[in-house]
Formats: sequence, structure tokens, C-alpha cells
Amino acid sequence: MIATLEWIACPYCGADDAAPWGEEAGYTAVQCRPCGFVYVNPRPPLDAIDEAAQTGIHTTERGTVNVVSRIGFRRDKVRMFRKRMAALYPEHELRARPVRWLDVGAGFGELLAALENLVHPASRLEGIEPCLPKVEVARRHGLYVSARTLSEVHETYDVISLINVFSHLPDPAAFLGELTRRLEPDGEIVLVTGNGADVRREEYPDALCLPDHLVFAGERHVRGLFDRLGFEMVQVHRYRYFLLDPLPLRVVKNVVKRVLGRPVTRPNTGPFRSLFVRARRKAHVPRR
Ligand SMILES: [Zn+2]
Repeated sequence: MIATLEWIACPYCGADDAAPWGEEAGYTAVQCRPCGFVYVNPRPPLDAIDEAAQTGIHTTERGTVNVVSRIGFRRDKVRMFRKRMAALYPEHELRARPVRWLDVGAGFGELLAALENLVHPASRLEGIEPCLPKVEVARRHGLYVSARTLSEVHETYDVISLINVFSHLPDPAAFLGELTRRLEPDGEIVLVTGNGADVRREEYPDALCLPDHLVFAGERHVRGLFDRLGFEMVQVHRYRYFLLDPLPLRVVKNVVKRVLGRPVTRPNTGPFRSLFVRARRKAHVPRR
């Protein structure tokens, strides 16, 4: 097993100078000394981290026991997304004109469901999600979610969202570049991820989920990645939790984690934050 792991340089800056940051499940996350980016090293080889793993299927979901997926489409999550997005987008903005929106790693489709009442009625809301049972559930809720991979998406969009997917990406810069190729010239990427690299491991409130999670960025890394790709920041907001499970669900999840011997989620009392980033492609950057 260990023999199949590969040693890598920092996916953010390319330096090969890192110190241990956190450990879990026999894997080590290291922090790059020059830039502060956190990444699993050594990590599973790239061919073991296929696109499905990057955009949604956790290794724990590949087996027959799938606790999280059984919870299914969550209306409380739809309400939470709706509340967040309504507060983040002045109403006239999403209703002004039809928007083509692609949610990558859409899961059961709760974000798309939340957007339905917020966007112009002629908008096209789509999602891609590698986990087939989730796709089926989303479709039963009337949502246009497909199991296409990103490489099978040939259309362009006004907005592409990536909610809690970033940490699964072995090469975030390359993946964001792939998203950019599918954006309109003034299109936007909406990203939600934790600021793991801004905090110490002890301040990270949840299990690290190694090696499903391969990288942890800080706010400066997210800003830096978008800057390199020719985006300007429209909004950056920090939340203690962007999405907070209702208390009964949190209790149930922790009980399940204890039974399975996994690390439980602790209350977030430190500087860990969920980052909401909305970045717009600068129109003068040539496409492709
Ligand atoms: Zn680095």
C-alpha cells in the first residue's frame, strides 16, 4: 500500500520544503514552509484519484455501506443554501437576465433547488455529480443533474460553482483552469471551501478526511489561484459555518462516527472559517 504512494512538491508553489501539519488514517498532511499551503504527502498516485473522487465520491462511499447518502436530499440544506445565496446576491442580480449555472459535484442537488426561486425563470440550472444514486435522487426532485464528467461538458456557463469540492482536487490550479475554459468571457466561479491552511491542525474542527481531502488552502491561496487565472474577486466572505447541519443531524453523525471509530466533529471555536469566494473572469483575458 505504502509503496504505491507518491511524493509530490507543493501543488501551489512547487517548493519541496514542508513540515508535518496533521495526520489521519495513516496519511500525513504537510504544510509548505515557503507558502503555507497544506497537502497530503506522500499521496495516492494520480490514477487512483480519478475525477469522480475529485468532484464527489468519497472513498467511504464506494463500499456498500453509505451512511451519508442514505440521508438523501435535505430540505434543510436547500433552505440554508437559499438563505445564504439570497443574502449574497442582491435580488436584481440573479433575476436580471437568464443565467446558465453549472454546479460541479452537485450531490443531491440542494444548491440547484435553492437557486430555482432566486434566478431569472428562463435560467438553466445544471449539475454534474459522479455518484449515480445521488444523480437519481436529484432527478426525482426535478433537477437537471447528470453523471457527466467535466471533460464531457462542452457548453459554456455564466456561473460554475464548486461547493466543498476544492479539498478533493490534487491539482487545484489545473482544475480551476478546466472550469475557466467552460466559462463565458465574463463568467464567474463560486467556490466554498474551508481555510484549513490558515489554521493549526488543532484548530480544524472536523476530521481531515485524508486522503479524500488532498489539499487545504488558506484565503491567500484561493485569492492567488484566481489571480493567476485572470479573475478578479467580486466577493469574499468568511463564515464560521457556511452550511451547518441541524443539531439532531450533527448528533446522529457524531454517534455514527464514534461507532465507526472515526474522528468526531468538534464545535468550531477557533479561527477556522468557511470561505465563500465569488470570482469573475476579467473580460480582457483571451479565451482558451
Ligand atoms: Zn508552497
